[in-house]
Amino acid sequence: MFDFSQVSVVLVNTSHPGNIGATARAMKNMGLSKLTLVQPEDFPSGVAVGRAVGAVDILDNARVVASLQEAVEDCGLIIGASARSRNIPWPMVTPEQCAHKTVTEAGVNKVALVFGREDSGLNNEELQLCHFHVQIPADPNYSSLNLSAAVMVVCYEVRKAALALAEQTVVAEDEFWDQEKANGEQMEHFYVHLERVMTAIKFHDPENPRQLMPRMRRLFSRIRIDVMEMNILRGILSNIEFRLDNEKKLEVELQEKNKE
Ligand code: SAH
Repeated sequence: MFDFSQVSVVLVNTSHPGNIGATARAMKNMGLSKLTLVQPEDFPSGVAVGRAVGAVDILDNARVVASLQEAVEDCGLIIGASARSRNIPWPMVTPEQCAHKTVTEAGVNKVALVFGREDSGLNNEELQLCHFHVQIPADPNYSSLNLSAAVMVVCYEVRKAALALAEQTVVAEDEFWDQEKANGEQMEHFYVHLERVMTAIKFHDPENPRQLMPRMRRLFSRIRIDVMEMNILRGILSNIEFRLDNEKKLEVELQEKNKE
């Protein structure tokens, strides 16, 4: 059977504890148990416990962290739920596709399903930490669901996909890969390195960044590189830095010589 413990639900900056409790209940109904709360405004809370009813254990075991980056650092697949499309379009999936990806990858990668604030959803920076955005195709005249209702829809689809997977005897071969995907933490280190090198070679100007880094993030999110590929890229970047350093040293030596 599908390993539900590989999947976590992440709630960012939730303001109403009732929504945290209702989320725990929805998760438990659908077989999920790992809840991560990023800076909840009011937690632990009696209101959350009241709404969780039989799912208080999920609240008791919830992980509370300071940032979304920290919440997803060990995850190889990160999907953010968003009611609105943003200025830089990101790869979008339906709840069914989100569930399919979740259950087919959970054997290899930890998966995070990320949900935003009640009033303003997820901000651009948070959405850019995700590989995909999932949008529930609600009525465009009023497409914003209650937070815990959105969690329920997404978790229900994960459950359906997990049940369907259990009935399948053969799993498509292309859903397996020989290497683990790079996780959130490794990707963040990679982006820091990439930005440093692009700045050093003067391709990137941090004073006038335009949308270079978000576009790089989108590119690598779309490809979802594995650990081996990331090590190759990091190796290339380190090599460039090494050569830049050597060039600098040679220049200094030359200047010293010219002075003599
Ligand atoms: N007013 C906010 C929506 C907040 S609803 C906005 O415009 O962004 C709280 C969270 O529930 C959202 O951040 C999102 O994660 C989830 N959600 C609500 N409706 C959704 C929908 N139609 N599709 C996907 N996620 C949705």
